Amino acid sequence: MARMADLIKATIASCGLGVEEVGGVGVGAPGVLDLDRGLTLFLPNLPGTWPNVPLSATISEKVDLPVFMLNDARLITYGEWMFGAGRGVDTMACFTIGTGIGGGLVINGKLHLGIGGTGGELGHQTIDFNGPVCGCGNRGCLEAFASGPAMTGMGIKAVIQGMTTSIGKLVDYNLNKITPEVICEAARQGDLIAKDIYEQVGTYIGIAVANVLVSVGPRKVVIGGGVAAAGDLLLEPVRRAARERVHIMPTEEVEIVQASLGLNAGVLGAAMWAAHNLDQV
Ligand SMILES: [Zn+2]
Repeated sequence: MARMADLIKATIASCGLGVEEVGGVGVGAPGVLDLDRGLTLFLPNLPGTWPNVPLSATISEKVDLPVFMLNDARLITYGEWMFGAGRGVDTMACFTIGTGIGGGLVINGKLHLGIGGTGGELGHQTIDFNGPVCGCGNRGCLEAFASGPAMTGMGIKAVIQGMTTSIGKLVDYNLNKITPEVICEAARQGDLIAKDIYEQVGTYIGIAVANVLVSVGPRKVVIGGGVAAAGDLLLEPVRRAARERVHIMPTEEVEIVQASLGLNAGVLGAAMWAAHNLDQV
């Protein structure tokens, strides 16, 4: 938190601004938050999991500005909606596929929050009730099937089982070096096993997208995060699987697209979230 505050101060100074010229600070945190009290409750992928940490108050005191916190994937959603691949529609869904699977929803021109900002956890919808245990404690979440680590696990398994694939060769048979990027490279070179991994992962995500289509009716579904850098290799099976499953709405009117802002989506979303909240004060 001290390093975050130092970075905020350095950024303000590098813009040639004084603190008094800045309205506030938006902060994204990867997990479950108490928005009313400005606390982190559970950040599953950070050491110590951060229970009841007063993130907003601590940073606010150090930088002498109001701080507005929100789940990081919700801020990525907000950024992509305002400035990126989600522009121009009033209802959209966003999936961020990396170490975990985050998500967010914009409904009728508003970032959807639900109870304490917990609405939009699209990675934790159940895809298979008999599936593997997820980091959240549930069984068979999308995240357990289609996150970066899940994909890496599929690549390692294929090599260990001696399948005919170039994935092992690409990392000199050092299994620790297998990543979604390596599997992507193999698939681009025509490796059938690597392509099949993208088919499977894309199908799981497509099922999740289908669930969101029928529940929210978005005009756009934006898919970002490191795993989505594979582009159409991932998106084609996602589109196919989603459209195969949804028959009660005009799915040809739904655009399923890759995110366009990369790492900047969350930063832009956080800034706009602060601005949005300051307008309401
Ligand atoms: Zn889960």
